[in-house]
Amino acid sequence: GGTVGIIGGGQLGRMAAMAAARLGYDCVVLTPEADSPASRVARETIVAPYDDPEALATFAAAVDVVTFEFENVPAPAVAWLAARRPVRPSWTVLERAQDRIREKTFLNDAGIDTAPWRSVHGPDDLRAALAALGGPAILKTARMGYDGKGQMRLDADADPAAAWAALDTDAAVLEGVVDFAMEAAVIVARGPGGTTATFEPVQTVHIHHILDTTIAPAPLPDETRAAARALAVRAADALDLVGLLAVELFVTRDGRLLANEMAPRPHNSGHWSLDGAVTDQFEQFIRAVCGLPLGSTARLGETVRMRNLLGDDAFTWDTLLADPAAKLHLYGKRAARPGRKMGHVTWVEIGPSAD
Ligand code: ATP
Ligand code: MG
Ligand code: MG
Repeated sequence: GGTVGIIGGGQLGRMAAMAAARLGYDCVVLTPEADSPASRVARETIVAPYDDPEALATFAAAVDVVTFEFENVPAPAVAWLAARRPVRPSWTVLERAQDRIREKTFLNDAGIDTAPWRSVHGPDDLRAALAALGGPAILKTARMGYDGKGQMRLDADADPAAAWAALDTDAAVLEGVVDFAMEAAVIVARGPGGTTATFEPVQTVHIHHILDTTIAPAPLPDETRAAARALAVRAADALDLVGLLAVELFVTRDGRLLANEMAPRPHNSGHWSLDGAVTDQFEQFIRAVCGLPLGSTARLGETVRMRNLLGDDAFTWDTLLADPAAKLHLYGKRAARPGRKMGHVTWVEIGPSAD
């Protein structure tokens, strides 16, 4: 046992805290949100901005190890904590995941392919990048984007000045649009000693840039799934990561893997594992961060399907509860806004039945 400090109060923190409790750990959550999904399962919640010195001191004093359920934590706060408690994953990992320019540079340096891309710091850069990559291309803010926010698709003849003004940022990337056969994701856990365990790569289906469905295993050839696992291990090793790393992938029509982005934490694409794997991603996360041996990631069913429940399609919950095979997970969010992740549901198909 011991106490795990989780920075961030969302559903990922909530499910991590539930896993920690099962392993005999308490959790203390630091979040600016007064009534958060994680706060209702944590032993204690410190409600304050992430850079509040007093809150950081209280937090550090209360925990044995610090981790994150999201990566956009300010650098000084992480540095302050790291001087006092083990911070897993480390700042160098977060730093590369916070900024798409650093992220893509890291991936390419590690020998991992991405879509062709250019860093963009103004309209002139954008004009040059559009000329170099051709259209259509996607312009993404370097920082803080999620669920497709902070992105715009540009044709080759787009007006760079107008597009740059509309994006309203000082740093961005322009990347070529990938004509993918499938999107996929893979999660790897890595412990303090460098041992790794990968989860089954999954197919991810996005609607309006938000994850809608995952299917485990991804319907891909064995060698492609093995390559996806190897890619994730390569990235985690190159980061010297302790914790969990999710890598979002494009599978090209000729079967190559391109990394889209990475997240050094539990990831929506791994929620299927709560019902569909021997060790789920949240338990594995806690195991890695606490230096416990990693668990088996073996799949429990022939196929496992997960669907997100967003604010706009909520209130199908009664129907889902009436489906005896549906495993419903709700995050305890008070307000259902369109596009907001309210919960998810999993179906585990056990396989050919004996009767
Ligand atoms: P999140 O962090 O919530 O996954 P995000 O805002 O960081 O999302 P991305 O993952 O970069 O956004 O993009 C969201 C989705 O948009 C992708 O999953 C994919 O469906 C599509 N997309 C993004 N970049 C490209 C690309 N270069 N080519 C084709 N499709 C893309
Ligand atoms: Mg992202
Ligand atoms: Mg993404």
